[in-house]
Amino acid sequence: MNQPAVPVLEPGATGTRGLVEIKNVHKAFGHVEVLRGVTLTVHPGEVVVILGPSGSGKSTLLRTINHLEKVDAGHIAVDGDLVGYRARGGKLHELREREILAQRTHIGMVFQSFNLFPHLTAVENIIEAPIYAQHRSKGQARARALELLERVGLSDKTDVYPRQLSGGQQQRVAIARALALEPKVVLFDEPTSALDPELVGEVLDVIRNLADSGTTLIVVTHEMGFARDVADRVVFMDQGQIVEEGTPLQIFGAPRHERTKAFLSKVI
Ligand code: ADP
Ligand code: MG
Repeated sequence: MNQPAVPVLEPGATGTRGLVEIKNVHKAFGHVEVLRGVTLTVHPGEVVVILGPSGSGKSTLLRTINHLEKVDAGHIAVDGDLVGYRARGGKLHELREREILAQRTHIGMVFQSFNLFPHLTAVENIIEAPIYAQHRSKGQARARALELLERVGLSDKTDVYPRQLSGGQQQRVAIARALALEPKVVLFDEPTSALDPELVGEVLDVIRNLADSGTTLIVVTHEMGFARDVADRVVFMDQGQIVEEGTPLQIFGAPRHERTKAFLSKVI
């Protein structure tokens, strides 16, 4: 079977290729257009925070990057590897299952609801993917998992089951798990929205440390203080489109669009 020609990716604004390139992506569920031509380039080491009202398509956008949703049109590439695309009206470029699995090892994802395996301990949750997806030895995977648990401040919880952990601790295990495959980019979808307020800080601190260590992050959050402090760039989405983007100073200090102003006036 002939593979369609891979489209040439335009270089990002800085002249270097983006680590994540999202180009004119469309996605509908039934008749509802959830993504309506989203274009976004994320550079290596960059921290991009996505803001926007509920239903604006933020989760769907993250999910298309990680193969949890297929795009209807446009394309997405991670480190130059095409995730999937369809030219308007054209044939869908479908990756093979093996290609999808290989790409997904480069992308970490952390969900609002932690999604740990309840029957596995903290360390077992973390070593699962390295053993099965990357065929690492159990000893090697465990050594790395212990390092990651230390990094998220949970060295004393190695052999504990998720139900014995607080929400904040579970989410920190989920972050360690997302890092286990040494991903090129980590996607966070409202990582603190399900937490009691007193547990939000410990999770944001872990994400902040990741940002400081140069990991490329795309973070959907309603934590405006975090966005202001940690983001290199803030992207505001509404009704399936990127309405505006800029530095935190620009977006919070001088938003240009009425919809951004209206959103910020409600959340700040
Ligand atoms: P956000 O994360 O910004 O709140 P979502 O990406 O979750 O937005 O959802 C955008 C819109 O798409 C919403 O109207 C939602 O109901 C709809 N949607 C999301 N996922 C699905 C799905 N699997 N099937 C049908 N509609 C969906
Ligand atoms: Mg969402």
